[in-house]
Amino acid sequence: MSDSTPHGAAPGGDGPQAWPDDIVPDTKDWTWVLERPCPECGFAAADVDVAEVGDAVRETLPRWRAALARTDATARPAPGVWSVLEYAAHVRDVFRVFDDRLALMLAEDDPQFENWDQDAAAVADGYADQDPRVVATELAEAGEAVAARFDGVTPDQHERPGRRSNGSVFTVRTLAGYFLHDVVHHLHDVRA
Ligand SMILES: [Zn+2]
Repeated sequence: MSDSTPHGAAPGGDGPQAWPDDIVPDTKDWTWVLERPCPECGFAAADVDVAEVGDAVRETLPRWRAALARTDATARPAPGVWSVLEYAAHVRDVFRVFDDRLALMLAEDDPQFENWDQDAAAVADGYADQDPRVVATELAEAGEAVAARFDGVTPDQHERPGRRSNGSVFTVRTLAGYFLHDVVHHLHDVRA
């Protein structure tokens, strides 16, 4: 199971029975987004400048807040596809997880990240049952925090390494691209 991957669940898939309402766990390894633009959202992660990530994250926050204010934010648009609320709760946690990972890469030499199973987190934390207003506030706070963390990165830190538990190797620069794609891709998912 890869972690922090865009949840590109296809409607109508037969997910394992552990997944309520046929949410299909995303087991694809999305690190290919570092090699070529994403065909779904058009984002080119390889072109991301670390110095721009903080502002780019902050730019997404009002769009998430607006999406969460929709009357149908808690409704799944189709079987197997997350609601706006579930995507937003996921992105809030992406902000938190990548803030931790970046902090670790800046503090330690080639750290290994803790595994994060995003689909298990969605179930264990009950994303679908959370309050959209609370998630909006938490997402904004977590977004501001990770944006500030990226703001503090200096150019000499761009190639500092870190590793996922599945063996994927990142630098601060590639982590930045991978992370920002995830956030932008999910805005695309919710058409925000
Ligand atoms: Zn994408």
